[in-house]
Amino acid sequence: MTTFIASPAVAPTAAVPGPAAVIDTGRVAGLIHQLLVELGEDPAREGLTGTPDRVAAWWNAFLSPDGAATATCFTESQLGGQLVIVGGMSVWSLCEHHMLPMNLRVTVGYVPDGEVVGLSKFGRIAQHFAGRLQVQERFTRQVAECLGGVIGHEDVTVVVRGVHLCMSMRGVRMEEARTTTVHSGGRFGTDPVLSQQFLTLTTGLWGAP
Ligand SMILES: [Zn+2]
Repeated sequence: MTTFIASPAVAPTAAVPGPAAVIDTGRVAGLIHQLLVELGEDPAREGLTGTPDRVAAWWNAFLSPDGAATATCFTESQLGGQLVIVGGMSVWSLCEHHMLPMNLRVTVGYVPDGEVVGLSKFGRIAQHFAGRLQVQERFTRQVAECLGGVIGHEDVTVVVRGVHLCMSMRGVRMEEARTTTVHSGGRFGTDPVLSQQFLTLTTGLWGAP
């Protein structure tokens, strides 16, 4: 099952809190310890003694910002109208409704106008917005808007295909379900030739249907 959710070219930007700048890992470990107790476990038993600290360390690593705000662009004054596509990027995030993992495969297209973006930048931006409690729809918009800010115009499109454990290991338990979200801005929303070229070239990059 595949769900297509297309975002409008200009989406309202809701104020959504991001991850805390500093995680108190000691306090988080204490809360995990308490959770184990509430779940009927003995946190002191062999196998669980280091679990609260490991979980706290993981949360700290997961939520740590990675400096995606640092733009890396290179001047290419001769470029005009070329379509650039970066696909095959895969990041892990956490569904904020169930706090279960979701794997997001990201494909980005943009049209350079005098500057090109360093290629690794695309993956870092995706990692930056994945490292928090998320929903796929918001993630797609945030990546697109961040890239639009980096390149200085709106000729950006982002396609995300997600596998959500909250759909596969709980609830309806549909392991094959995939959710696809699209955010197209600028010419990708108004130029049918450009958008069709992007779709033709990227269909195989979105992962298994
Ligand atoms: Zn969920």
